[in-house]
Amino acid sequence: MSTSTWRDNLRTIEPYVPGEQPDLEDMIKLNTNENPYPPSPKVFAALKEFDCDSLRLYPDPNSGILVSALAKRYGLQEDQVFLGVGSDDVLAIAFMTFFNSEKPILFPDITYSFYDVWAELFQIPYERPALDEHFDLIREDYYKGNGGVVIANPNAPTGVLQNLDFLRDIIEHNQDVVVIIDEAYADFSGTSALELTEEYDNVLIVQTYSKSRSLAGMRIGYAMGNPELIKAMNDVRYSYNSYPMTRLSVALGKAALEDEEYFRETVEKVVETREWTKKELKRLGFSFRNSQANFIFATHERVPAQTIFDALREKHIFVRHFNQKRIENYLRISIGTRQEMEKFIRETENIILVYRKMLVM
Ligand SMILES: *Cc1c(COP(=O)(O)O)cnc(C)c1O
Repeated sequence: MSTSTWRDNLRTIEPYVPGEQPDLEDMIKLNTNENPYPPSPKVFAALKEFDCDSLRLYPDPNSGILVSALAKRYGLQEDQVFLGVGSDDVLAIAFMTFFNSEKPILFPDITYSFYDVWAELFQIPYERPALDEHFDLIREDYYKGNGGVVIANPNAPTGVLQNLDFLRDIIEHNQDVVVIIDEAYADFSGTSALELTEEYDNVLIVQTYSKSRSLAGMRIGYAMGNPELIKAMNDVRYSYNSYPMTRLSVALGKAALEDEEYFRETVEKVVETREWTKKELKRLGFSFRNSQANFIFATHERVPAQTIFDALREKHIFVRHFNQKRIENYLRISIGTRQEMEKFIRETENIILVYRKMLVM
């Protein structure tokens, strides 16, 4: 074959592996933390009224309509809001914009597994201080010199929430770098660190439409913080894609924000079902931290996670299993509708029974 050398210059990287997206009619999908409820009826209406003709035109590069709606919703100025194609896009741009120091950035060993992929992609040095045995962050690990800090709160996949005093302490010790708080699940916890952006100009809050607003398929995420941070991110953003948000995502994103009542109702239902599921899992012999997100990260006293995962899969019930040190015996179970969770509990109970019988024989 040829002796060409282009392969020597390939960018090789181990990509992030998202949860699978099977398409089975009878499946119960509890593996990627999507919302089990449809988007707000106002989103359906906005889609019907959407002016398709307008699609021949580029969208507004600033997505002004949605930025302004988000600013209003959170009591901010428009220059404090940054929009992206899902919070993955927002986070990737934040990494590029803020983490250009020689010192390593810090995030826990067990957290959203995209952080280290971006660090690798953008060649940012990083360290991953270990969570303690209860999956809590150890604050002192974040006191040393670093190039930036990233904390998912509640954390993924553990569901553990650190309170504002804890975050404030970490921020106090990191005044020379940007601290990113990834709040993908904050709406299910009733806690947000947004108020800390008023006190500290180096704190960036990142949120998403994908979980609490039932719009994972639309890809809308946003960051909130000091105008200087937002401007720096926009400068990076416009240096490689000037029209990130489509006209459709802007229209539907705005419509979703206009239905605060539906948003509260659906979040409340998910939280109620989460609390019911915790009781049932406990009854079946699972243990887990008290998740404040829309999933539960649980391990069983006798049955290996992989065994439960495989048996559920055969029943077309999909949960998430991470083949990673310290958590290989855990399952991350997204919260579905009450009906879905009842079926999940029934099937899991059966799987455990069958496993016990096997051990006796
Ligand atoms: C789901 C998730 C995201 C990304 O969500 P988008 O769909 O890209 O908005 C970011 N961070 C964490 C911790 C998540 O779980």
